[in-house]
Amino acid sequence: MDVFLENNISKSVYIHIPFCMSICSYCDFCKLLYNKKLVISYLRQLEKEIDSKYKGEKINTIYIGGGTPSSLDLDEINYLFKIISKFSLDNNYEETIECNFDSINSDKLKLFKKYGVNRLSFGMESTNKNILNILDREESKEEIENKIRLCKRIGFNNINVDLMYAINGEDLNMLKNDLDFLIDLDINHISTYSLIIENNTKLAINNFKYIDQELDSDMYYFIDMYLRDNGFNHYEISNYSKDGFESKHNLIYWRNKEYYGFGLGASGYINNIRYSNTRSFNKYIDGLYEYESEYVSFDDLIEYEVILNLRLRCGIEKKAFKEKFGKDISYFFKYDDLIKDGLLCENGGFIYIPLEKWYIMNSILVKIMEGRINYGRDF
Ligand code: SF4
Repeated sequence: MDVFLENNISKSVYIHIPFCMSICSYCDFCKLLYNKKLVISYLRQLEKEIDSKYKGEKINTIYIGGGTPSSLDLDEINYLFKIISKFSLDNNYEETIECNFDSINSDKLKLFKKYGVNRLSFGMESTNKNILNILDREESKEEIENKIRLCKRIGFNNINVDLMYAINGEDLNMLKNDLDFLIDLDINHISTYSLIIENNTKLAINNFKYIDQELDSDMYYFIDMYLRDNGFNHYEISNYSKDGFESKHNLIYWRNKEYYGFGLGASGYINNIRYSNTRSFNKYIDGLYEYESEYVSFDDLIEYEVILNLRLRCGIEKKAFKEKFGKDISYFFKYDDLIKDGLLCENGGFIYIPLEKWYIMNSILVKIMEGRINYGRDF
């Protein structure tokens, strides 16, 4: 099989809705303040982009991210899903929409349900008032609890909540309170992120300082221990789920599979091309969607495969790797020393980074790439 051509395999779709009701102090995502006139022009252009690129393949996951897709009003949501109905879905598809607690209500949730959304992903980040002040976010615990109950009443059981940690001023006890809150709410997927202060964000402009690195590491391993003790699988470096509630869409990324990216600032990977759309609203509205693209060579593909697969607890499946690339992984990488040093494990046909080394994953990936051998497609 030619690994370059996955055209007949069902694909995934990412759709970016950039509008937000307010802007968070740490946000580096592609976003803009909600404005009804802009939303209408944006959705029209999104429809044109999809019409110009989508080739009619079966779609197994759709992820509507942002921005805050739930900031759209009911008419705009109806239009968005009219556009989405152009995709031909697999029977057991997953369709996620990102929401904020303050912009979701019973009418919007019922509409999502009617259009076949089966997974919700909420940005919560923290429940501590001082931390929320730093992040320029406002949701109260009471509001979050009420909205999660509402989602469940309307029939959404597959729910992710994003949690941010390692914010200067936070301690382990505050982090534990956030985790207890989510555990008590019976949330079945939690994505965790240590705060990164990106350039040109309000936090960077205000010279906000990072937390001590040792505390950052302690928090990472505390979350790991606490959530695993409470029935979650730590299945990816930043992600935890109850059995059967892993994010099918994000697994597509980590398994190095192809996906469409539509919308402002969206990224995609189709027919061996990785591309990013423009972040300029005006260019996007003028139909100049794409900003840059890169052809993924056979060598690049192998490196992406290793780097992305190793983010997963199960790591690289050796048999699948050989089927995809025609040779054993040891043909391309020399990794014996990493195993001797305890930085990699090989077991049951899988190669993976042991959990206790996940905090230093990036440095391990650099070492693996240093052991790259046999470049070039010589077979
Ligand atoms: S809601 Fe999300 S996308 Fe919007 S400003 Fe906040 S972090 Fe950024």
